[in-house]
Amino acid sequence: MKCPVCSNNMQEEKFGEVRVDVCKDGCKGIWFDCLELRELDERWEGSGGNLGDALDVPRVSDTNRGRIICPKCVKSMQKHKYKASNITVDECYICGGFFLDAGEFKAIRDMSMTKQERTKEVNKLVIKSKHILNELEEGQRKGGAFEQILEHIKTRFLLGFML
Ligand SMILES: [Zn+2]
Ligand SMILES: [Zn+2]
Repeated sequence: MKCPVCSNNMQEEKFGEVRVDVCKDGCKGIWFDCLELRELDERWEGSGGNLGDALDVPRVSDTNRGRIICPKCVKSMQKHKYKASNITVDECYICGGFFLDAGEFKAIRDMSMTKQERTKEVNKLVIKSKHILNELEEGQRKGGAFEQILEHIKTRFLLGFML
């Protein structure tokens, strides 16, 4: 497959279970087929020596570059920010493929939570919901109306968030 930015031949690389195309001899951009990027956009995902190489490239600015043509569909790709980041990526709305310029792959992974951070967040939520369940049970034992207790908890929960 030809690189949509510099026209060099891209080479297939395996990052764990996912096969991507890397512009090794040219701009170091990476092509992801539909859904492949989603499997690799978190820091703990993927593995292999080639993944390290792909991540270890300086980031280039793509702000001056216009739209590129999808190497699969030969149609114009869309430029937009990836998830809630300030990183502009190229996506083909027809096949769902993504092209990331050099360094963008690392930038996207770096802004994701680590596995530990995510586990921490999930645990916090679990503890919070346990509190809610306990309060619900407690309230019902005391003979309160379900709706009323729920309203009370909701208010306290929201206040907790704001504080
Ligand atoms: Zn290239
Ligand atoms: Zn396409």
